[in-house]
Amino acid sequence: MTAPLPTDGFADLGLSRDLRETLHQQGYEEPTPIQRAAIGPLLTGGDLLGQAATGTGKTAAFALPILERLPPGDRGVAPTALVLVPTRELAMQVSQAVHTYGRRRDARVLPVYGGQPIWRQLQALARGVDVVVATPGRAVDHLARGSLDTDSIEVLVLDEADEMLDMGFAEDLDAIVAATPPTRQTVLFSATLPRRIDRLAARYLTEPERVTIGRAQAGVAHTPQVRQSAYVVTRQLKPAALGRILDVEAPEAAIVFCGTRNEVDQLTGIMNGRGYRAEALHGGMDQEQRDRVMDRLRSQTAELLVATDVAARGLDIDHLTHVINYDVPAAPDAYVHRIGRVGRAGRTGVAITLVEPRQSRLVRAIEQHTRTPLEVESIPSVADLRARRLELTRESLEQRLRSDTDPGRFRGVVESLSDEFDLLEVALAAVSLVHDTVVGSDADETELPEVRLHDERGGRGARGGTGGRTSRGADRAGTAGGGRDGRGAGTARIYIGAGQRQGIRPKDLVGAIANESGLRGRDIGNIDITPNFSLVEVPTGSADEGIRALRASTIKGRRTTVRPDRHA
Ligand code: AMP
Repeated sequence: MTAPLPTDGFADLGLSRDLRETLHQQGYEEPTPIQRAAIGPLLTGGDLLGQAATGTGKTAAFALPILERLPPGDRGVAPTALVLVPTRELAMQVSQAVHTYGRRRDARVLPVYGGQPIWRQLQALARGVDVVVATPGRAVDHLARGSLDTDSIEVLVLDEADEMLDMGFAEDLDAIVAATPPTRQTVLFSATLPRRIDRLAARYLTEPERVTIGRAQAGVAHTPQVRQSAYVVTRQLKPAALGRILDVEAPEAAIVFCGTRNEVDQLTGIMNGRGYRAEALHGGMDQEQRDRVMDRLRSQTAELLVATDVAARGLDIDHLTHVINYDVPAAPDAYVHRIGRVGRAGRTGVAITLVEPRQSRLVRAIEQHTRTPLEVESIPSVADLRARRLELTRESLEQRLRSDTDPGRFRGVVESLSDEFDLLEVALAAVSLVHDTVVGSDADETELPEVRLHDERGGRGARGGTGGRTSRGADRAGTAGGGRDGRGAGTARIYIGAGQRQGIRPKDLVGAIANESGLRGRDIGNIDITPNFSLVEVPTGSADEGIRALRASTIKGRRTTVRPDRHA
């Protein structure tokens, strides 16, 4: 008999044991809302239109049902599934995720994107692949070469479909969809569902199941007296950022929520290594272990509880002052649940969320749900940290000054030093000693780089070029890197020898660049389209890459002159 796995929520969805074992190994404790809503319908083979943003767990939602289709043993050369994504980063990220989820099925997953030598992709496709994760432009290239066999595609996924449309991939999508068998299962995920996505869905999907996650639900969620803020930080820097925030916030007791059991264990180790007293709590622990952890927290032997949602359910910790979301929760309800652990009984509390740059939509969904803005704050700088440490030292001294009933016993020490030193100097030396014992050394001296929340695809982006110049850029203000209005410092301009007369639209240029380079839509600044030529702004360091990308692409079916702008 095989032992039950704690990932029962996934069994309820109908997933096989081997996949559940992998999820268990990943430390997942329960399906996210999008997984709960989408996996069942996808396993039955129907089409699906899902609204879900990055960070909701949507990749596993479509990947697991695809993996269920892969038979054991020898599989043919042609792929079973094709996943289309807007950017090369996403192609790599999604293919890595599918590879991880499909390890026990020996799933052969290939990312296919512009900018990578095509021969390597040709070789891999010829050897045999189960799942191809491609950017649309490169997928079309492979179709034209006959190197991507679409005849046996059973599942076609369009991931981040709204972004693909924004980038001008509509025609490529049409061509790819037309090349796949009409019997295929089609899955379309999009962070937003504007009319044009509905139109796309009407063309590509048959009687789809509709799944919406991450939108504000009806009614206002009750958020108690909680100060809510967010810090934008990349994944690698999260432990360092958390340390900084804890140092400045100085919580009496905090609960730090992580998405997986593995993350809980890792983070607990890291925080203990950095001198915090942290305890882990997750679904893999038995009752005795849980009780011990809770005792240590209640007796204030531990100050940080690092936990998954499942494990923290039903916990009631009186002196909790801070809730920290180390990961943005996959759904707004979970956020409200988490922060409800502080601010009880009229007390105030603090909720802090670490947000990765791509997670702006999750943040917006939470803000809508709670009808409260999440203040985005800068990660404390070295200067903030020093100021806070000095404040702690001052507080300790003040406390001693008020409570020490017999300070006179040190009078001799001060007087003997005062022969040689000024009294202020003596006091400064004493404070320095206290400072070292109160806050330790000022070791953590490097600034953490400031990153910004990536903006939401610049709204409508650019309008079509009728009369005069079409310009884009102001509507992208506030995106990573800043300085988007007007021509920012550190930007270079690329000249493209085609313009309005050739029917060039900004999205054609954005699409060509994004498809063939590591640049993303938001890295691109102003685009000017004149009747005969166009100018595109990119960060100076990426100018060569942008030029290479545009030269490698056909724009509106033509190759055209691309060079640095001489009048820059
Ligand atoms: P995605 O929205 O697909 O980009 O996923 C966001 C993050 O959530 C990824 O780091 C996944 O590893 C993680 N994730 C996906 N499903 C789950 C789950 N059921 N439990 C915990 N983490 C998950």
